Amino acid sequence: MYIRDTIAAVSTPPGNGGIGIIRVSGDQAAVVGSIVFTPVSDGGLVSHRFSFGTIRDAANGVKVDEAMAVLMCSPRSYTREDVLELHCHGGWLVVERVLALVLACGVRLAEPGEFTRRAFLNGRIDLIQAEAVMDIIASKSDAALQLALRQGEGALSGRIDEVRGHLLQALALVEAYIDFPDDDLGHTDVAAITTSVESAQAILSDLLATFEEGRIIRDGISVLIVGKPNAGKSSLLNRLLNENRAIVTPIPGTTRDIIEETIIFEGLSIRFLDSAGIRHTKDLVELEGINRTLEKVPLADLVLAVFDGSRRFCQEDQMLLDALAGRKVLAVINKSDLPQVLSFPDGCQFLDTVRIAALSGDGVDLLKRAVCRQFHQSGAIDSREYVSLSRARHRDALVSAVDCLRQFSFGLQERNLELLAIDLRDALGAVGAVTGQSVTDEVLDLIFSSFCIGK
Ligand code: GDP
Repeated sequence: MYIRDTIAAVSTPPGNGGIGIIRVSGDQAAVVGSIVFTPVSDGGLVSHRFSFGTIRDAANGVKVDEAMAVLMCSPRSYTREDVLELHCHGGWLVVERVLALVLACGVRLAEPGEFTRRAFLNGRIDLIQAEAVMDIIASKSDAALQLALRQGEGALSGRIDEVRGHLLQALALVEAYIDFPDDDLGHTDVAAITTSVESAQAILSDLLATFEEGRIIRDGISVLIVGKPNAGKSSLLNRLLNENRAIVTPIPGTTRDIIEETIIFEGLSIRFLDSAGIRHTKDLVELEGINRTLEKVPLADLVLAVFDGSRRFCQEDQMLLDALAGRKVLAVINKSDLPQVLSFPDGCQFLDTVRIAALSGDGVDLLKRAVCRQFHQSGAIDSREYVSLSRARHRDALVSAVDCLRQFSFGLQERNLELLAIDLRDALGAVGAVTGQSVTDEVLDLIFSSFCIGK
């Protein structure tokens, strides 16, 4: 529910900084500005113009800060309501005091994401664009930022609107016949309906095909490093990170917990998880580490199976391969500086095999490239037209739209107009959930609760 009261929050991060911004949105924003802020020049605040002045406690006239203030009158503002921003000094005490003065004017502290929620509810942006705001803030790589910016510009929304357009066309034709129960669907109309629905299905399946890449771009790739003890997993992780984060020792079984580190490579965020070596052991702590590793295998987007190239393939290597059956595995043959004796038994299924020397770093860049290649082959993100799904919420909604249209196609054989219309409306509902045309308050609460306060 949207209550049109006036809200306020600190929009800059907590702590001390150069500038602290207090944002106010709602009908009372201009009044709040006139109470707490006195511009040096005469005439009060002018919409969309910055003014320099002082912030004072209206109760006693005491000066709290010197600040810049800007009023953005509705509808040309972030929320489409009147918005006031007070840019004061960025000390936490100053910011807290200014916020307290603003709240004392009778406005309410904003909920997380409430400014963006109002922008959505007032029709300035759709739900995909609102979520993109959050993605822009959370971006960890250039590719993720570019994707979020394009979604913020409405690239994905445009594709979803095309789907809606096709479905509405089909629905209009079907409903026209429902209004005239004596008429059967004519051949021409069946063809027109089928064309519209097929066009919608084609866009939906194109979009769904982009999800894996989009998710990887947005969330990054998670790569689990496994191998028998002493294969060189920790040395490899250190090389990948260019630091000594994992402990490297010549005693087998020293990495007993999972270590997670993220690097940015070729614009993608790659999260490496170094694990306990996989082998038979009676050491309880090490055993726990190995169990945790095996639990992580299904969660990883890719597994780097590290082998010691200077040793023969052994039972522990075989155990490792058994544990990885059916997974995306890239074989890393380490210690290429030593005489090589490793050979794999027949039937090993690897996506790729890369030789490295973790100790010197030889081949590690090639390995990083091989990892990226598994997820990012199209290079499509570099094109201006790139549109992709990146959130599971969007994917799930589009999958259910596809299901409804499959039902529709069955129904079309039987020519049951009422059922056809229901299937189309359900598909429209599912598609509308993505852009926010059809979402419940509960879904909005869930989406916006993960925003920060002040956004
Ligand atoms: P982990 O148990 O799999 O994590 O293995 P470590 O990274 O702790 O390495 C085990 C041992 O192998 C250490 O003594 C490393 O110095 C050594 N090692 C790792 N990589 C290489 C390499 O490329 N060449 C050689 N010669 N030794 C290596």
